[in-house]
Parts: sequence; C-alpha cells; structure tokens
Amino acid sequence: MDLGLKSKRALVCGASKGLGFAVAKSLAAEGCNLIICSRSADDIQRAASTLKAEYGVHVEGLTCDLSDAKDREALIQESKMIGHVDILVNNAGGPTPSSASSTSAEEWTKGFSQLFLSTVQLSQHFMREMQSSKFGRILTITSISVVEPIENLAVSTAMRAAITGFHKTLATEVASSDITVNTVMPGIIHTDRIDFLRGEKAKKLGTTLEIELKKTAVAVPMQRMGRPEELADFVCFLASEKASYITGQNFCVDGGLRRSW
Ligand code: NAD
Repeated sequence: MDLGLKSKRALVCGASKGLGFAVAKSLAAEGCNLIICSRSADDIQRAASTLKAEYGVHVEGLTCDLSDAKDREALIQESKMIGHVDILVNNAGGPTPSSASSTSAEEWTKGFSQLFLSTVQLSQHFMREMQSSKFGRILTITSISVVEPIENLAVSTAMRAAITGFHKTLATEVASSDITVNTVMPGIIHTDRIDFLRGEKAKKLGTTLEIELKKTAVAVPMQRMGRPEELADFVCFLASEKASYITGQNFCVDGGLRRSW
C-alpha cells in the first residue's frame, strides 16, 4: 500500500529515542521528510544522522525543551525556515511519578507546560499552515491513562485527559479543511521510560528491574510489552493519505491491556 507520504514533511517532537524516534523512523521509511526535536543537541543530531543514513530522506534535528514557551516559539520559527509542515506529532517526555494528593504546584505547572501547553501551541500554529494546503495530520501520543488512570502518575493522567478534550474540540473545528486530529494511547511499550518507571518501583518494593518488567509483561493479555515500532507504524498510518476519513478519535495500542471497551 502506498501511504502517500513521499515528499510530505513531518515535525516529530521528543524524537531522539523511544516512541518519538520510532515514529520518525516509520515515517522516514515511507519517504517522508522530517524535522525532529528533543532537548539535547547531541542526541537529536545523532538521531537525525541515523535516519538520513538509513532512509535517504531530508531530516533536520532541532533542540527544544517543550516545557519552555520560548523554546517552543523558537522551534516554530526554525521550522518555518525549513518549510511547510504537513504532519505534526506531539510527544514529550512523561512527568515525574507522583500521587494526586502529594504533587506540588511546581510539578503541576511543569507538567501542564510540557504536555498540555506544548500540544496546544504547536497544534494551533501548524493547523494554520495546514489549512493553507488543505491537507494536515495532527497526532498526539497520550497514554492509556486517559481511559484507565494509572496509579502514581497523577500529572500524566490529568494532562492527557486535558489534551484529549482539546483535540476533540479542535478536530471538529478543522475537519472541513481536511485536517485530521487524533490521539494514540500507548499501553506498555518497552522504552527507557518504562525501564525508569519500573526501576523506581523496584527500589520502592525492594525487588529488581527484571522482576518488575516481568510482572508488567504478564499483566498484558498478549503476555509481553509492545515494541516501539508496533505503535509507530500505526501512527504512520494515521499520518498517511489513507487515513483521510479518521478524525477526532483516540486509539489504544496496548496488546489488550485496556479492560474497558
Ligand atoms: P522516553 O523517555 O523513552 O523518550 C522520551 C523522548 O522525549 C526522548 O527523546 C526525550 O529526549 C524527549 N523529551 C523528554 N522531555 C522532553 C522535553 N521537555 N522537551 C523535548 N523533548 C523531551 O519516553 P517514551 O516511552 O518514548 O514516551 C513518550 C511519551 O509517551 C511520554 O510522554 C510517555 O509518558 C508517554 N507514554 C509512554 C508509554 C510507554 O509505554 N512507553 C505509555 C504511556 C504513555
């Protein structure tokens, strides 16, 4: 199937590793040109070089801390100089684990800026660009916590719900311009983030990372964690011309982990 992504350009955020990098890779494999960003200049340049060498597409690596409004504005300005963005993939690092009752005002503020405001600012800007070309895809990686809140991830859970509400409203507003807006909710996809969270849990429980990863895997009906490319290929499909009539939706990629329907 030709996904129609050749010569399109995507901006993929939080893309030096993990799910963002996997999405960038999947898009590059379809011939899509890329702008990728993350906080560390070295890491994002390394990721950009890998993608260019492997797929021969045009890739620009930009440095941006998505929790910082000035950095986000600089990302927008630098992207404008590179060229038109057809596809936006909102994705940033997950916040520090904390309970709803103990999270400090600083942690709420940082999570709000990094996850919610970054998604709003970038979506609003690139949506306008997309309206001029009558094609656009806005995709945001959230979490299964939107439908089943996760213990001790209060900031993440609250912000993903807010993003979902924003996107549902935006999807309706831009649908007549042939811009689609969807979110993808990972269950447990094995990345550094999962190793970090399970490592913290192991410290708390006095177990080991291996034990916590095993417990995590067997709790999934498929009896394993997902691979980043299993989520990325789905995001790539939603970004494609083939997904032109799918908008305002939230999709779990979770090996059956979500128990509700
Ligand atoms: P990861 O930690 O493996 O990778 C995060 C990426 O985002 C890295 O490239 C990192 O450099 C970048 N990043 C982090 N903070 C940033 C910031 N402030 N500005 C710019 N870039 C930043 O994480 P991941 O597993 O790829 O997860 C991506 C997102 O999906 C996170 O928000 C995470 O909470 C969420 N999520 C992941 C899972 C999962 O199973 N992996 C499940 C639910 C939700």
